[in-house]
Amino acid sequence: MRPERLNPSPRPGRRGGERLRIGGFTPFTTTDYPGRLAAVVFCQGCPWRCAYCHNPHLLPADGPESHAWPDILRFLEGRRGLLDAVVFSGGEPTLQGGLADTMREAKAMGFLIGLHSAGMYPQRLARVLPLVDWIGLDVKAPSDAYPRITGTPGSGEAVFESLRLIVEAGVDHELRCTWHPAWLSAADLLALSDEIRNAGADRLVIQEHRPAGREAFHAEIVATDRERAGLDLLSTRFRHFALRMAHQESPA
Ligand code: SF4
Repeated sequence: MRPERLNPSPRPGRRGGERLRIGGFTPFTTTDYPGRLAAVVFCQGCPWRCAYCHNPHLLPADGPESHAWPDILRFLEGRRGLLDAVVFSGGEPTLQGGLADTMREAKAMGFLIGLHSAGMYPQRLARVLPLVDWIGLDVKAPSDAYPRITGTPGSGEAVFESLRLIVEAGVDHELRCTWHPAWLSAADLLALSDEIRNAGADRLVIQEHRPAGREAFHAEIVATDRERAGLDLLSTRFRHFALRMAHQESPA
């Protein structure tokens, strides 16, 4: 397993949740925590470079801060009883050392805690899992195909370790795979389903990626009947399975 780097952007003089570097904030969403009204905190920084990343401005760990955590806490204070949950998204939230403190502070106010993660840091994930009520974990590919999606050698193994930890901890979760036939074949999808089931999970959401704008101009590949049949077969291998259009909420 690759070592988990220390927070690349230490925040001298800051304490607790103030250490979290925030690159965006959505004050209200109905789609980022199933069945709950939530606010979303977008955390700055991610070491991967996925071809379909919709938030490239969040990738640099030392990117600009859009909001300070104390300001978000004040906002949340006024939303008690109106919002159910605070979701930490990114970027990759578990990259940052201040994540657990922010979660603790939001939880102490009575909010449910949601986490969107790509699962790249299982040890860090294990430390915050006791604070998390629901997690949306990206499962991008079977582990041997991860590097062609993330641009990062050896990136797949840690994700399935994270999945095992989530299943062991019994945390409510959703596994999401962003899919386009140019990236994942029917065989890849079936190999992915094997790895998910071997980790003890029984649910999967396939988010079909429809490129837009310039990206669409270069990605005219459409799913073949064989790939569609692969999706149909996939749907029989999980107790909970859904196929939906990829969705991306833009950080404010
Ligand atoms: S893991 Fe998520 S945030 Fe990081 S590059 Fe991939 S899609 Fe973007």
